[in-house]
Amino acid sequence: MTVTEHARNPVVVARDIRKSFGQNQVLKGVNLSVRASEVVVILGSSGSGKSTFLRCLNQLEDIDGGWIEIDGESIGYDYVNGRVRRLSAHRRMLQRRALGMVFQQFNLFQHLTAIGNVMEAPVSVRGIAKSTARAQAMAFLEKVGLADKANLYPYQLSGGQQQRVAIARALAMEPKVMLFDEPTSALDPELVGEVLAVMKDVARSGTTMIVVTHEMGFASEVSDRVVFMDHGVVIQDAPFEDLAANPASGKVASFVRNAKH
Ligand code: ADP
Ligand code: MG
Repeated sequence: MTVTEHARNPVVVARDIRKSFGQNQVLKGVNLSVRASEVVVILGSSGSGKSTFLRCLNQLEDIDGGWIEIDGESIGYDYVNGRVRRLSAHRRMLQRRALGMVFQQFNLFQHLTAIGNVMEAPVSVRGIAKSTARAQAMAFLEKVGLADKANLYPYQLSGGQQQRVAIARALAMEPKVMLFDEPTSALDPELVGEVLAVMKDVARSGTTMIVVTHEMGFASEVSDRVVFMDHGVVIQDAPFEDLAANPASGKVASFVRNAKH
């Protein structure tokens, strides 16, 4: 395979994803493809199913219908002779490691220092020697601009710094795809910029990213495509400029208008 062919291959394919909670059908057939190194922003009103969709990609939720492939591998299930089989817990756990996730609430281990947080999974999950993991963790902390805070605990860090540690922690597992679920929504406004700047760096380094955010500056400057979700379906999937020029609905238009202030 040539480099160009590889670049064209989707790393994430989600087809017709359906998910209900009781009577509430939250995902009604979501489709998305993301190619290597692409940055896709997901927009949509609260309750439109954005978090649920990311959680399905990451197997934090079981899907009711459709299928997901990450890097060509069927996620959660396999399909043999037309029959659907759930993969083993072990296989699913290995698949989950291929995705890094950053949440609105940073979810750091409070009893571990910044570097302890970044080393934890490489040591305990991947079995990397502590000295190697420490050196690698330091490199990831440097990447997010926090090498000088390596030995501080989460309570000694600002919200923006904690979220940058959370990004370093996810990167340290060298995931095929990074998922971000409103990573700046819990931050004081003056701390949003430093987190977005780190995310921009991560994007520039060629990491494949799916980002749920309301930050229109990030959507317009950094994303390759924007996917707009409404009531459990994708109503538009296009570069930001196309969304701005030809919004698929009034809701899309008002999101984009807000972007321009
Ligand atoms: P968004 O992230 O776009 O705001 P969510 O995916 O969080 O939307 O939620 C979509 C809908 O699914 C909402 O109506 C929410 O109440 C419902 N929902 C999400 N998670 C659960 C759950 N674990 N149990 C029941 N309902 C849920
Ligand atoms: Mg959400």
